[in-house]
Amino acid sequence: MLQQTTAATVKPYFVNFLVRWSDVKDLAAAPLDDVLHAWQGLGYYARARNLHKCANIIAADYEGDFSKSESDLLTLPGIGPYTAAAIAAIAFGQKATPVDGNIERVMARLNAISEPLPKSKPKLKKLAVRFTPDERAGDYAQALMDIGATICTPKSPNCNICPLIELCRAVAVGQAENLPRREAKKPKPTRRGTAFWLVNSQSEILLRRRPENGLLGGMIEVPSSSWLEGESAGAIANEEAPILTDWEALPGIVRHTFTHFHLELVVVVGRCSTQEKTMGIWCGATEFDQYALPTVMKKIVAHAQKYTKKHTH
Ligand code: SF4
Repeated sequence: MLQQTTAATVKPYFVNFLVRWSDVKDLAAAPLDDVLHAWQGLGYYARARNLHKCANIIAADYEGDFSKSESDLLTLPGIGPYTAAAIAAIAFGQKATPVDGNIERVMARLNAISEPLPKSKPKLKKLAVRFTPDERAGDYAQALMDIGATICTPKSPNCNICPLIELCRAVAVGQAENLPRREAKKPKPTRRGTAFWLVNSQSEILLRRRPENGLLGGMIEVPSSSWLEGESAGAIANEEAPILTDWEALPGIVRHTFTHFHLELVVVVGRCSTQEKTMGIWCGATEFDQYALPTVMKKIVAHAQKYTKKHTH
């Protein structure tokens, strides 16, 4: 849960998960949709799917017990090098070195590494590994993370109260605030598309499930065209619409930002008389809460409801 997300955001979700599924076997037995629903708002849904997959493997292949070895943990879905090392060191007291952004920053400063991130990552990891003690590797990692989060902060590190000041090369050369350096980021591209708000004669709205693989995999969506870069991508994409009808564009644009791109969607409204089940899920106007809608889809729903209500008045 904590990947790419702050602890403050995660807290209520974490508590809710533990209340609903108190151990890994309960989580494994839960329907995936319930897990995705409880994840709503945390973003990066692949993590929820992997968490569920991982729980199933641990329940089925490991009798509900996590393996204690870093290399075994690495084979589980959703567990990469950082998480495997963090679980091995922090949960099981093994000698392993998880390296997060905080530890990278502390290492870069402690050793006055001027090579910019992300190129310097392997070097920073090596340094963090070199200093890892044989005993209490989990405490070492957490202590560094806490120093990074509270003292050796990205802007204005509070070196005066830092327990590492005597060892710190960056302080010695007066470079603490300038490190770590970063390569200039490429600006995020903008993709555009059309979302189709299709209303049937029962005032139900068409939703459907996204393909399992890819962005927002398996989540429920308001149908939309492909999301593409380029100017013409904003044009209404009739050929990708769920049916042929007179689509009417609502004013305004729905904007959302993903990790790798910005998204701008025009919402178009169409009407139809069918309630054909093969098209997807027909959702009553007050039933959206029952589905695991990712944030971008909730924005589309809010936008469409705001304007379609105005239309009918
Ligand atoms: S002395 Fe300053 S720069 Fe060095 S590790 Fe501590 S807080 Fe960071």
